[in-house]
Amino acid sequence: MHPLFPKPMPDETVFSLLCRFHLLSAQGSFKANTLKMMGMNASRPSNELPSFLPAFSKVSGISINQLIHKLTSVHYYEPFVSKTSFQALVSGLANGNTSSLQSKLGMVANRMMQGQSLRFCPQCATEDIEKYGITYWRITHQLVGATVCSEHHCQLDGVPRKSVKVMLPSQCSQVECNDVDCDLTQLIFDEFHDSGFSYCLNKLRSCYEQQLNLLGLLTASGRIRQKLLKSLLSDRLSQLTVTSKSYRLLSSECRHGRYPECLFYLEHCNHQPLKHLFLIFSLFGSWRAFKGSFKSSNKVCKPVEPSTNIENAIEWGTGFDLLNEGQSLRQAATAIGTTVSTLKIKAQQKGIPVDTRPSKVFEDTQRTIWRKLFIGTDCKKIALTMTLSVGAVEKVLSRYPELVRLRKKIRYFNKRQQHRQNLTNLLHKFKTRNEIKTALSGSYMWLYKHDKKWLYESLPEAIPRQQRYSRKEK
Ligand SMILES: [Zn+2]
Repeated sequence: MHPLFPKPMPDETVFSLLCRFHLLSAQGSFKANTLKMMGMNASRPSNELPSFLPAFSKVSGISINQLIHKLTSVHYYEPFVSKTSFQALVSGLANGNTSSLQSKLGMVANRMMQGQSLRFCPQCATEDIEKYGITYWRITHQLVGATVCSEHHCQLDGVPRKSVKVMLPSQCSQVECNDVDCDLTQLIFDEFHDSGFSYCLNKLRSCYEQQLNLLGLLTASGRIRQKLLKSLLSDRLSQLTVTSKSYRLLSSECRHGRYPECLFYLEHCNHQPLKHLFLIFSLFGSWRAFKGSFKSSNKVCKPVEPSTNIENAIEWGTGFDLLNEGQSLRQAATAIGTTVSTLKIKAQQKGIPVDTRPSKVFEDTQRTIWRKLFIGTDCKKIALTMTLSVGAVEKVLSRYPELVRLRKKIRYFNKRQQHRQNLTNLLHKFKTRNEIKTALSGSYMWLYKHDKKWLYESLPEAIPRQQRYSRKEK
């Protein structure tokens, strides 16, 4: 162990400690002396997954385990990669065998990595100088997706890393940021500090689906309303004031790529944790809310098969059973996630009698249907009371485009009425907007999307940010 090796500061990265050691020990050259001592030949010392930990452990006297678990960001990945991948990550760091770790974690393909720049909080740097006489790099500030200091609520500043050299944060002026930035970064920090909490990835997906269902983002057959979900995420992304490279990538994948579908369809792959974290942020709001929901969730949702496998995924047997039980073609088709006409053909091939209610309607019946449609009665209900097929009622409806628009409006007003009522009924029980959002997420989300002005006028006043955090700390 080297006599001049400094003690690690709270939340300090290995790279930061390496730089401070170099300055303290007054070695001649960073490349020729310090890095050589760590077994490195002039390559840039990695900030996130360093290959020099075995030698570093010997020189510093800090155990390899402590280095990995306390001075690197491994736990950022833990919840979202398989157990095998996580073990490979830890043992790779312990052996100094880190060259293929990023590709094993799938981070290269995701192109979201640390390492292009080092980030720090200007206010922390000023305080560190006053308190310790030095500045240093913090692990949490380097996490992919973190843009804000959770202590000072100001933007993190970035310094590009282009060459092999000693670098520590310098002092500069701070820039304010908004609530969304703060809440998102807080969620990332909470996840990082929540080590040892690992997920079965299957259960993670069913937890997402349960919340999607609650927010009205699943169809009746359990499929995700991808377009709506994408627009929700795009909205959230556009609210961020600090646009780092990671968020620009996420935004472009959301608009043109396969985010967030990839998390549901390619669940066996390791995805950059930020992809999960941003979805969690958009769906649950905070890490704590997500964890609560995760713990209470059970596997109620049917797994959604990739779209290329729809043909194999449909359980025709169940559909036939439903038909035999007397359910209508439409009900059976919806239940197994196929179209009425496909199920009809399959059923006829099997010789199963299908529901053949009259689909032709006479003039006077048409008028009765029109009147019921006009006041907004559900097509299914009309079909049931008049012993007609739903298709027949819909055919009448399709002849009057203005009726379709009117019914849309009626449905919208009914829904709005319902959601406003839900909120008004329970408003007195809660003190803050967040509590209401958690307790009534379905209605809250609907009103947020369609009736924002009314929602914000009805909710209690937003708590100023300064007070929000001071309450949490107590
Ligand atoms: Zn700070």
